Amino acid sequence: MKEYDVITIGAGGACYPAAFRLKQSGYNVLMVDEKGIMSGNCLSEGCVPSKTIIETVHNYKRMREFYNFKINYSDIIKRKDRVQDIRYKSHNEELNVANLEVLKGTASIIDENTVEVNINNDINSKERFHYKHLIIGSGATTSILKIDGYQYCITSKDLYAFKHSIDELPESIAIIGAGYIGIETASFLSILGVKVELIEIMDSVLKGMDIEAVNKLLPLLPEMNLHLNNGVQSIEKYGNKFKVNIMDKSNKSDNVIVDKVLMATGRSPVIPDGVKNLGIEYDRRGIRVNSGMQTNIKNIYATGDVNGIAPLFHAAKRQSLIAAHNIMNGDKLTDYFNSSAIPFTLFTIPQMAFVGLLPDELNRRGINYIRTTYDIKDDTLAEAYNEMCGEIDLFFEENSMKLLGGYIIGNDAGNIINEIALGIEKGLTARDFAEMAHQHPMTFEGIDTAARKLF
Ligand code: ADP
Repeated sequence: MKEYDVITIGAGGACYPAAFRLKQSGYNVLMVDEKGIMSGNCLSEGCVPSKTIIETVHNYKRMREFYNFKINYSDIIKRKDRVQDIRYKSHNEELNVANLEVLKGTASIIDENTVEVNINNDINSKERFHYKHLIIGSGATTSILKIDGYQYCITSKDLYAFKHSIDELPESIAIIGAGYIGIETASFLSILGVKVELIEIMDSVLKGMDIEAVNKLLPLLPEMNLHLNNGVQSIEKYGNKFKVNIMDKSNKSDNVIVDKVLMATGRSPVIPDGVKNLGIEYDRRGIRVNSGMQTNIKNIYATGDVNGIAPLFHAAKRQSLIAAHNIMNGDKLTDYFNSSAIPFTLFTIPQMAFVGLLPDELNRRGINYIRTTYDIKDDTLAEAYNEMCGEIDLFFEENSMKLLGGYIIGNDAGNIINEIALGIEKGLTARDFAEMAHQHPMTFEGIDTAARKLF
């Protein structure tokens, strides 16, 4: 049996940062991934392709203000595939340089020191490998609501998969689920002229996000028909279209007739075979870990989407490195994950981004805070882009004036939020931000402008 110091199940953001770090430090590492390539679902069907499409549409919208032109959706898809292709090639080079390998296959856990891999995903070709430390980074996958007619639905994978994406726009689409995937998709499709019916069983969109921020974003979004408090009952074929039957809370039925139906009802963790047998603790949200990313079995770690703590690529990357550091320290914890400073960007058009404690949570916890706001309507760069909407809101603890959280709606939100995250992580105060000379003319200027209002 081949012996490795460290084996990873998966080769996405939850695994490869650790694999590189450990390899550099002299560990003998093997990554196993069903896809046989590095980078996981983020590159194959997630953030990279979706953001390439969305940002292309965003630029199109900006240009359309000045030039009357139409964009061909299949060209956007070709561009997306090119971006994915380039990223895959550069990942391969990185692997070669580091002399690391990704074994193609599905891994299952046999015991505390052994995994079995179906090489090339072939059940007749099994090989066992011995490990000292294991990192489970098997990610998450689209949850499918098994309602009548669910097989007619597409998922985000059909929109974004490398070389296999839908490259023709429907005239209309029903999107089941107004979480971040549903609303990001609704936003860019609407700009491209698709009639969007967004169906959500809860009483608001983006459940779990701060209500104040969401309510400020909603009026700025492109046109979409929102069906709140409505559950999808079934989907039927209707000529060459689909009929989506919905029912509201008072049992009133209705339907929408559309060309396509997107299932966007969330993602759930992929738990590898063997986890249960070995007694690794997990629940519906994912594999349970401590803040050092360790499971209840000391030499087995679970990082990234599979633990459900912060299912975002950048969180996975940080968690991966934490696992590596703790492995290097002989499975004694030396590095810990701080989930309170992980930024999130909603790639709607315009964007919304947030991090830390926001009004809902601050009020719930009874924390006294001071708010300061910058109006992006007055921002120079937003003016240059003809996107004068949105705001930056920062929240500081009343006495210490330490930054607790912030949200941004509008131009460059996804970039600016990183500085706010760093401020929270490093305990910066309102004065630190007020004294910073942010570059002009960037929307970042809003941070010091807002902070100075407090002095
Ligand atoms: P994360 O961002 O947490 O790394 P991803 O979903 O991007 O998550 O990556 C997880 C990767 O793990 C995917 O490429 C997926 O195909 C792979 N994977 C999932 N289960 C297994 C398994 N049992 N054996 C090997 N690879 C797996």
